[in-house]
Amino acid sequence: MLKLVSLSSGSCGNAAFVENGRTKLLVDAGTTLNYLGTALNDLGTRLEEIDAGLLTHEHGDHIKSAAALSRRFGIPVYGNEATLDALPATFQSADVRVFETGRTFEVGDLAIEAVPHSHDCSEPVGFIVCHEDRKIVIATDLGVVTPEVRAALTGADAIMLEANHDFKMLARSRYPAVLKKRISGEHGHLSNVAAGEILAMTASGKEQKVLLAHLSDENNDRHVALETIGEILSRKAVDSLKVRVAGRLAVSPAIIV
Ligand SMILES: [Zn+2]
Ligand SMILES: [Zn+2]
Repeated sequence: MLKLVSLSSGSCGNAAFVENGRTKLLVDAGTTLNYLGTALNDLGTRLEEIDAGLLTHEHGDHIKSAAALSRRFGIPVYGNEATLDALPATFQSADVRVFETGRTFEVGDLAIEAVPHSHDCSEPVGFIVCHEDRKIVIATDLGVVTPEVRAALTGADAIMLEANHDFKMLARSRYPAVLKKRISGEHGHLSNVAAGEILAMTASGKEQKVLLAHLSDENNDRHVALETIGEILSRKAVDSLKVRVAGRLAVSPAIIV
């Protein structure tokens, strides 16, 4: 059994909880510690029970309370070397540990692999977490789908995938042109259409539980994301996916596989 819950998703702060009943992980810690503690209490667990924090990249909406989490509770925080090098000085007294992107490592009885992403920071990654024959993939903050992400999504039982923006909403938004270009660029964020297309392309007919994540507050809407992706899936005759949306500062439904 593997369980995946988004505790918060989007520019307001990102954190996801993954466990198999014994080993408990946080992927990113981009909200306050108080928020994370309360969200975990809702799930019947506590911050001090977390075995490790994994960092996808050094942007503030992913690392906000990671150093404090480590210092206060002695929780190790894992990142690749480039990400660890880019962290602020607050991490100097934290228990930081390095992993190599593309190479499997273990925390407790979970096997983890960091998957390279395309995003505007040092060495962004997503994660594959495996236990026995179950596989969860977490892929947010990616401008385009890399071949490694595509391979990771294939055969996954549960997927947390970025669906950041709707093209029309982004084009109409009050964001400055340079920011719009960054968001929709190769090193920015994944659109609803790109998310739908990669889900359709990698679907195999086996049931996959999907949590759409990192939705923009300004340039997206949960109904628009679900509708856009639903249309792409039905056009490609894919009906094996159960798609839900992770909210901002809200605990998502638990995805259990
Ligand atoms: Zn980012
Ligand atoms: Zn982000």
